[in-house]
Amino acid sequence: MIGITVLGATGSIGRSTLDVLGRHRDRYRVVALTANSQVDKLYEQCLEHRPHYAVMADADAAQRLAERLHAAAPEIAVLAGMEGLEQVAALPEAEYVMAAIVGAAGLKPTLAAARAGKRVLLANKEALVMSGRLFMEAVQQNNAVLLPIDSEHNAIFQCMPTDFARGFERVGVRRILLTASGGPFRTTPLDQLISVTPEQAVAHPNWSMGRKISVDSATMMNKGLEVIEACWLFNTTPAQIQVVLHPQSVIHSMVEYVDGSVLAQLGNPDMRTPIAHALAWPERMDSGVSSLDIFSVARLDFTVPDLNRFPCLRLAVEAMLAGGTSSAILNAANEVAVEAFLQRRIAYTAIPRVIESVLTESVAHSAETLEQILADDAAARAAAERQVILHGVTH
Ligand code: NAD
Ligand code: MG
Repeated sequence: MIGITVLGATGSIGRSTLDVLGRHRDRYRVVALTANSQVDKLYEQCLEHRPHYAVMADADAAQRLAERLHAAAPEIAVLAGMEGLEQVAALPEAEYVMAAIVGAAGLKPTLAAARAGKRVLLANKEALVMSGRLFMEAVQQNNAVLLPIDSEHNAIFQCMPTDFARGFERVGVRRILLTASGGPFRTTPLDQLISVTPEQAVAHPNWSMGRKISVDSATMMNKGLEVIEACWLFNTTPAQIQVVLHPQSVIHSMVEYVDGSVLAQLGNPDMRTPIAHALAWPERMDSGVSSLDIFSVARLDFTVPDLNRFPCLRLAVEAMLAGGTSSAILNAANEVAVEAFLQRRIAYTAIPRVIESVLTESVAHSAETLEQILADDAAARAAAERQVILHGVTH
């Protein structure tokens, strides 16, 4: 039996993970489940999966969960806060950690899992975007195994040669073709984008996901974060990554080799496929995902993304090229801008403006220590809050 901690168990990825784990109870034992503040959902998951630990980031929520579990499942220990999250990410009885917290909140626990030498199933791309070099060093120094859950990166991982860490040239890879659906506003007239609502932005045409990543998919900041994620995971640069708009989301990404071969991974848009792949790797197991009906798909389209429509993609590539803590600053500004948009404090079109202003006014640092990353993250959040007020809707 393999023990697993699921960070962010109540979210979209967390629930898909528990669905896959529930199909293989003979192979995996859920050791810990965590959530931010959704007591009812985590309580229900605790009764079903009987972990040793349940963690709520929010202390009041932890108190309420402990009261409810006291009667129903007194053997489950309830922990609270960042310390609790870091603790369950490094438990000796959990060999695997699913990192599925959204945003910067996931950095410390995900890093704790890497430092403890776990098999880290990485959904929380923001953690890697913020701390790229530091995170990859922690993985190497502690013999952790890093497997991507992001569908594109999981696809790339499946298409890459096994020794890809040696570098593209040595293993004969020419470039990555990173696919993107283009989100709900791929064809919306540009002059209408100013008035799109949070409800329209989170209604993704192909994938069902959390609110933050859904808005990121609409702006294509998600693809920008994924370019950065791919650079760290696969030891490459933005120059060797071509973003491809592929509205059907059937090909999840491709790898081109120097001999002209292009390998692709295809499947239905259901995150249980990459989750089951990373859990079972190097074996394969059932994920619950139905067969791809290639006949009903019938056609696949590919176009070049328009950076006028998707300025966030350009900003992310620029931040990666600038290096140091620039990507952490980009990520922090984006988190604040997306939240402000969801709260109807700024227009959709103000999201890239807020981020660009923050990147322009911030000082990035080349020393990528955790302290420096968190300090620059905090400063960028404060700057972004000021920009939100400047760009705020007045009605
Ligand atoms: P979600 O909003 O559905 O779930 C987020 C989870 O994180 C919840 O369990 C929540 O309780 C927890 N959480 C939120 N804030 C927290 C905090 N401050 N402290 C501790 N826990 C906190 O998000 P999601 O869609 O499941 O995405 C999770 C991560 O996976 C994101 O980084 C996202 O980019 C990535 N991802 C998601 C998908 C997808 O299909 N949903 C695909 C690829 C990558
Ligand atoms: Mg993705």
